[in-house]
Amino acid sequence: MSEISLGIIGGGQLGSMLAIAAKKLNIKTVIFCDDADAPAQNFCNQFVNGNYENKEKISEFVNQVDVVTYEFENIPFETLNEINKLKPVLPKPSVNRLVQHRLAEKDFVNKLNIRTTRYVSIGKKSEIDALEDFLPGILKTTTLGYDGKGQYPINSVEEMNSLNINFSKEYILEKLVKLKKEISIIITRFSNNKYEIYEPIENIHEDQILKHSIIPADINEKIFDQSKEWSMLIAEELKYVGTLCVEFFIDRNNNLYVNEIAPRVHNSGHLTINAFNVSQFENHVRAVCGLEQIPLKKISNAKMVNLLGDQISYYRNSPKLKENEFFFDYLKKEIKEKRKMGHITTLL
Ligand code: ADP
Ligand code: MG
Repeated sequence: MSEISLGIIGGGQLGSMLAIAAKKLNIKTVIFCDDADAPAQNFCNQFVNGNYENKEKISEFVNQVDVVTYEFENIPFETLNEINKLKPVLPKPSVNRLVQHRLAEKDFVNKLNIRTTRYVSIGKKSEIDALEDFLPGILKTTTLGYDGKGQYPINSVEEMNSLNINFSKEYILEKLVKLKKEISIIITRFSNNKYEIYEPIENIHEDQILKHSIIPADINEKIFDQSKEWSMLIAEELKYVGTLCVEFFIDRNNNLYVNEIAPRVHNSGHLTINAFNVSQFENHVRAVCGLEQIPLKKISNAKMVNLLGDQISYYRNSPKLKENEFFFDYLKKEIKEKRKMGHITTLL
């Protein structure tokens, strides 16, 4: 029997699913989260509630665990770095710092000769006039965005000037890609050239929030192969340990672009729970805890639908599901508009 205790920073749905996967492997989980109502406390062994900069809470957390991972990227680098002096943090804090900064992330990807959208760093409002080249575009905060938060579509220089944007923050302006499709690759790296990689997942967004994910993705062979190759290259270059997600754009001419990298398990990979022998969550736990790598086998095609806001209510009230349907309730206390409340996966 394993005696490993895994610390997880962040207590949302991804933390819950990591804790569930760990339990199956006889691994204890301790979750550290700044939200007293964090849903993952329903699934872990121990829960530590505190601010991510609170030194006492950090040591209370660290003292109970052997290895630490995280379910979201917006954690202060200092916190991860301090923890890493006491217990291994995986993926490494430096990887998290790189990837949580949109500009550093895109520079890194381009250095590998992997295509991204065209982009420019924006610091002060005065620089805006020279930007015609990147319009129409999307202005994004370089850090702390998710689900389209901190993003502004911009069609013209005038429009940008008229927006009341707080330029004390750093921004990146990205040229808008005429999207045909979005896909993601989930890959778990165990060690040098040792991976489990899932097939490309097709993602449909509404209002910049993921709505559906489907396998197989309707893409050509070249994109199928290239998206996997690029993901492996990124994971190898980062010397990554754990599960990583690479989000891609495909434009109307079938060009592939890396959109962003998530240094963690990912919403588009929820369908791996039911559609594969080993889920992205179990693979992550296996990799960061140094457990055996199991060859990935697909069980079924699948479609996952996110339940946003009060879409959850119907499923909470009428649990009559078909045999091929799997409903997950994240047990979030408060229903908020556009908040991810649960999902339903259908095996196809
Ligand atoms: P987040 O961190 O919020 O996931 P993303 O950069 O992935 O931020 O943007 C969210 C969604 O917005 C993308 O999945 C895509 O649908 C759309 N989007 C973002 N940037 C672009 C772009 N440059 N061109 C076209 N669509 C974009
Ligand atoms: Mg994204």
